[in-house]
Amino acid sequence: MLVDIVPVGDVSAEVKRAASGGLRSIYDCEVTVNDSQSIPSGAYDAGRNQYCAESFIQLAEREGRGDKNIGITPHDLYYRRRNYVFGLAYLDGSGSVVSTYRLQTSSDGGFSNKSAADIFENRVRKEIVHEIGHTLGLEHCDNNRCVMNFSPTVQEVDIKEETLCGTCRRLID
Ligand SMILES: [Zn+2]
Ligand SMILES: [Zn+2]
Repeated sequence: MLVDIVPVGDVSAEVKRAASGGLRSIYDCEVTVNDSQSIPSGAYDAGRNQYCAESFIQLAEREGRGDKNIGITPHDLYYRRRNYVFGLAYLDGSGSVVSTYRLQTSSDGGFSNKSAADIFENRVRKEIVHEIGHTLGLEHCDNNRCVMNFSPTVQEVDIKEETLCGTCRRLID
């Protein structure tokens, strides 16, 4: 499997590296990083001051060269009535997206002595692995340590591991 990372906007080298590393270690896949793309036209909602996640998925599907293509963006994303999303993917689809916008809170509440940069990169890895999991057919998992657990807050993201639990792993192997 080849996963193509499609940066949308100004995505740092650290974020690209974290995303590539997470995907390689969990899915044993090839990872490429595409050219930076500009924000898809029509994606911005002025009333919400946010961007439509689905437009970013369509862009990743259109520009990506992989079996799976994941957009990464620093911009704040929404999906339907949800106030924000860290990411979005369709089950078994080829495209997905992750926003780093709300993963950047500096603290993990004092649970670890990791640096803010490490905490942020770990969150990026988990959310990227999570969205690609959906594109491989995985749904949300009840195990709060599993990367496929639904984690709408950074606190929940910090609790889960970067890895798939045994049940999820067996579903894709
Ligand atoms: Zn999910
Ligand atoms: Zn699981």
